[in-house]
Amino acid sequence: MANLTRDFFIGLSNNKCLNKNAQKWGFRLGADKFVAGTDIASVTRTIKEMNAKGISCTVDNLGEFVSDRSEAEASKQKILKMLNQIHKEELDCHVSVKLTQLGLDINRKLCIQNMKEILNQAEEFNIFVNIDMEDYAHFQATLDVLKILLEEYRNVGTVIQAYLRCAGEVLDQLEDVRIRIVKGAYKESEEVAYQSKSEIDQNYLKLAKKRLLGNAYTSIATHDHHIINELKDFIQKNHIPHDKFEFQMLYGFRQEMQYELAKAGYHFTTYMPFGNDWFGYYMRRLAERPQNINLVVKDAFYTKDNQLKKEPILTGALAFSLWMLWKSKRKSSTKSS
Ligand SMILES: Cc1cc2nc3c(=O)[nH]c(=O)nc-3n(C[C@H](O)[C@H](O)[C@H](O)COP(=O)(O)OP(=O)(O)OC[C@H]3O[C@@H](n4cnc5c(N)ncnc54)[C@H](O)[C@@H]3O)c2cc1C
Repeated sequence: MANLTRDFFIGLSNNKCLNKNAQKWGFRLGADKFVAGTDIASVTRTIKEMNAKGISCTVDNLGEFVSDRSEAEASKQKILKMLNQIHKEELDCHVSVKLTQLGLDINRKLCIQNMKEILNQAEEFNIFVNIDMEDYAHFQATLDVLKILLEEYRNVGTVIQAYLRCAGEVLDQLEDVRIRIVKGAYKESEEVAYQSKSEIDQNYLKLAKKRLLGNAYTSIATHDHHIINELKDFIQKNHIPHDKFEFQMLYGFRQEMQYELAKAGYHFTTYMPFGNDWFGYYMRRLAERPQNINLVVKDAFYTKDNQLKKEPILTGALAFSLWMLWKSKRKSSTKSS
């Protein structure tokens, strides 16, 4: 059942038409709980609040799978503006980017050129740039681009997804590079990715422990308290210095735990997405935690002070369809299991 629900929301996250339309709607369906703002000014306010609590941030200008040069150019310009803002406001923050947002699907040279402009600016301001890892269809291309960038830059790193069977092998090739370890957010085939939670968790722990014993900086990105607790024990037993790693979580998830880890003296970074292109990101979050569908329904029909909305037509209709689809998938999977 969990897999069916996950597949359903991941399917929605890839729907080009819904993604495009959602950009015009503004935040709907409760997305504002997980997206830190629509523009640079609003995300800056949230970063400052997190920084004041001892939490660093990595900011992501939402958007992916761009097929138009002008869109790739606009994304690059926005990232450059964000880098300026981080520098000017002295924010404790780095940036996360997606290569498909910067033209990877249009022309690899264009994407590399865009990344170089971003990295030059970031280098000047001493800011790290993380390349998020997207679906497996872009995995090798992402690593190839990273390899080219590493010939010139040290302020760049990427993400390794523990669900990939080849994750260990690739991680060994990147032993000197700053890496974020995640479980993996996309739907991948059994051929390339572990499917069961226990296999993914086991691989996650194996990869994280190996990295923690190595030399390069590692970001442990998960909301899974079992994994976090086991790694905290491992770190203590092996006397691993706190400046070699950090914990990371997504904005809006397990907020109390984020503060507790920072308070306990661990480096902590919150992943902070912003912008209008929120649909795909938000649907992947629903895929991971379908309980959040309650937020969607509440947001569609009620105002912030719990009054029934007068005109919930667009959001209500969409939320209702999502809800019905989710329920029917749930019913059919219960019947068949
Ligand atoms: C900072 C960051 C960056 C990421 N970057 C990428 C990327 O570049 N590429 C990519 O593919 N994926 C990325 N991801 C997403 C990642 O791959 C996972 O899909 C996502 O983090 C969910 O997996 P999890 O490790 O949190 O554990 P899950 O398996 O989702 O959760 C494990 C357990 O943790 C508990 N839990 C989880 N969330 C909550 C909650 N909100 N409240 C209470 N309990 C909870 C539950 O007990 C749950 O069973 C990123 C994730 C983070 C945190």
